[in-house]
Amino acid sequence: MNNCFILLAAGKGKRFKSKTLKQFIIYKNKPLFMHSIEKAIKSNLFKKIVLVTNNKIKISNKKIKIIKGGRERYQSSLKALNYIKNKKFKNVFIHDAARPNFSIKLLKTLKKNLYKNQAVVPYVQTNNSTKYISKNKIINLKREKILLTQTPQCFNFKILYNLSKKNRNLVTDEATLFINNNKKIKFIKGEEKNIKITKISDMVKSSIKTFYGIGFDIHKLIKNRKLYLGGIRIPFHSGLKGHSDGDVILHSIIDSILGALKKKDIGSLYPSNKKKYKNIKSSKLLGPIISNLENNDYHINNLDVNLICERPKVSKYRNRIINSLSKLMKINKNIINLKGKTVEKLGIIGKENAIACEAIVSISKYE
Ligand code: ZN
Repeated sequence: MNNCFILLAAGKGKRFKSKTLKQFIIYKNKPLFMHSIEKAIKSNLFKKIVLVTNNKIKISNKKIKIIKGGRERYQSSLKALNYIKNKKFKNVFIHDAARPNFSIKLLKTLKKNLYKNQAVVPYVQTNNSTKYISKNKIINLKREKILLTQTPQCFNFKILYNLSKKNRNLVTDEATLFINNNKKIKFIKGEEKNIKITKISDMVKSSIKTFYGIGFDIHKLIKNRKLYLGGIRIPFHSGLKGHSDGDVILHSIIDSILGALKKKDIGSLYPSNKKKYKNIKSSKLLGPIISNLENNDYHINNLDVNLICERPKVSKYRNRIINSLSKLMKINKNIINLKGKTVEKLGIIGKENAIACEAIVSISKYE
């Protein structure tokens, strides 16, 4: 794992007409650059991630180092290479934050090809007929001979660093640098969906479908059991009875997500007659569902939860529960709302013999 991932996010995005810098604009529910960071982390290929930006941002992750960029892309790239020059990385990946849609599989294919090569670069081809203007002449080009290079690109660190140090030209990617110096590149098939977001209209090119799901759950309160709500332990006179830990918040959220995806319900996914789910923490039931969302390009837009009980008082635990949900579901806190609802001391909930919960979620799929 002797690899470093450099993410270039210092550009001014002149063609992108918005007050917010392109790399920080919210795309698929998170800042554009975060998509690349998250994929780099998830791939498990990198010891270090260097984010090059001229903006003030804070990310609390030991793997990530934020450094200031230069005026041009190649200067930012060199700054990052300078920063890691004594850190003994064998390989370095360089990526533009404006391409958030590459796959983790592409990272792995690049890495695999780097065993026998010093530079690996993904490309796509064009369906357009292509011409080249040379002085006053226009030349027809065979489109099957045209390679449109993308990022992430990966390189042997030493070779790239030496070329970058000497370079004085305005190159738009590291592949150009290799070509200018007659160095060999292994080209591999890139991904059509890995477009570069240049104009605002590029952001809406992908079609978005939105789905809603609703979930409800109720469990009995019994003595001598711990109470879990939203994935955290809450001090209380009783706990919720159930095959798992009885966490009504997580169960209703799971059902709401399954509802939005048209995937039946929690009981079909995790049958209560199966031993392996006995006393399981509900966060372990939620985890695979969240991973499944991520892997299929679904993004949660909004989550609203009603916790129905006399006690414990929701206001006392709201922040902790929301923090926990935000971590478990890998979503921003500000798209989660948690309401407490009492029942005027009526019925089994009113007598503190049960707790119920309902949740509604909105999920978008980007295609
Ligand atoms: Zn339940």
